[in-house]
Amino acid sequence: MTQISNHMPTAELQALDAAHHMHPFTHNADLGAKGARIITRADGVWLTDSDGNRILDGMAGLWCVNLGYGRQELVDAATRQMQELPFYNTFFQTSHTPAIALAARLAELAPGDLNHVFFAGSGSEANDTNLRMVRTYWAEKGQPEKQVVISRWNAYHGSSVGSGSLGGMKGMHSQGGLPIPGIHHIDQPDWWSEGGDMTPEDFGLERARQLETAIKELGADKVAAFIAEPVQGAGGVIVPPATYWPEIQRICREHDILLIADEVICGFGRTGNWFGSQTMEITPDIMTIAKGLSSGYLPIGGSIVSDRIAEVIGNAEFNHGYTYSGHPVAAAVALENLRILDEEGIVTRVREETAPYLAEKFRSLTDHPLVGEAKIVGMMGSIALTPDKASRAAFEADGGTAGYICRERCFANNLVMRHVGDRMIISPPLVISREEIDTLIERAWQSLDETHAKLQADGLM
Ligand code: PMP
Repeated sequence: MTQISNHMPTAELQALDAAHHMHPFTHNADLGAKGARIITRADGVWLTDSDGNRILDGMAGLWCVNLGYGRQELVDAATRQMQELPFYNTFFQTSHTPAIALAARLAELAPGDLNHVFFAGSGSEANDTNLRMVRTYWAEKGQPEKQVVISRWNAYHGSSVGSGSLGGMKGMHSQGGLPIPGIHHIDQPDWWSEGGDMTPEDFGLERARQLETAIKELGADKVAAFIAEPVQGAGGVIVPPATYWPEIQRICREHDILLIADEVICGFGRTGNWFGSQTMEITPDIMTIAKGLSSGYLPIGGSIVSDRIAEVIGNAEFNHGYTYSGHPVAAAVALENLRILDEEGIVTRVREETAPYLAEKFRSLTDHPLVGEAKIVGMMGSIALTPDKASRAAFEADGGTAGYICRERCFANNLVMRHVGDRMIISPPLVISREEIDTLIERAWQSLDETHAKLQADGLM
């Protein structure tokens, strides 16, 4: 077999990719015909592709490379750990220092009494853990009927059967028999698309109170937990109105419903604090973590749980776990990642310097004729494309054409921005500099201009 390497011509790599590699969330035949862009290396916020283009990664990979690419310290941490103990499990009355150290460090960083960590290999796995953990919690407390988990339409909590059911992506539910029983969805707090004539504040309350209505309909004695991302990520960076989270928190407390904050994207500095729950001022019982925990250098996720949950779960045998729960190499890399984020003051710098600078520039995109609103929290933001700002109109019923065109124009201009319907998203590495932010905004503006011209030429506006 030929040696496959970055030195091969792009077309050959693309052909082999199309022949053998099935991509996630992709129409593989279409991609095969077009050819995937092959990324060969990366440094800081810059990707290099097989044709030698330098691309600004406005998405930090998949919202995860918080520290940026090319950090030798993480390579060294992995090497050291691989030499010392490349694998051991934590199932049968054994433990190892990387898992112990990482769990202890996460307990220090996490707010309140979230002092206990159950490790997983990914965010999906961690949310599967959460689903079983909250149900087991109530069963162990003598309330086995308290099993329903309430989530939101257009939430993303992962791709496994459990986490995909917790999520509210209808396109996912339509494949493979999701959702599983015992999951209930309420509407999302997306004022731009769904707020009608209401003020954002009234709309935030209305959407939060759907939780209370659902709890009353289902019966509080049947509801185990509510799960939500502090700021919805994959759904389009939907920043809820300020009234939303306080009301959700009140409802969970009053009805004795556990609150799971899915911090897979929001965690580890993305919103300008260690956790999105701190930015949104919520007190969850469980936080889901992954992605930025290791800056994506190795796969690792987990659930950070409160004292009261750990006590109840700890007094029974919890029949759950993954081969790679607390994988020593991933844990060592995560620990080193957390050390650097802390010692280099990266989370503080995001909050006090980079995010305010980015916010100012990002909001200026609303001067563009295509852009209705710009929403940004810390280093995650989105703009809504619209043919008519005043009425917050959509281009078409389900949207997505304008967003897709814009995403393609960004790619052509060597900027990675993602589109969700007709929202364009950024979530750059936290280490992005002011100059790189300027470049990101310039390329976004240029791409918006080109999108505008194409939409007009195609008669779409
Ligand atoms: N929760 C959220 C909020 C996410 O954004 C994601 C991934 N995008 C997940 C869970 C699933 O994580 P993973 O892909 O690591 O399974």
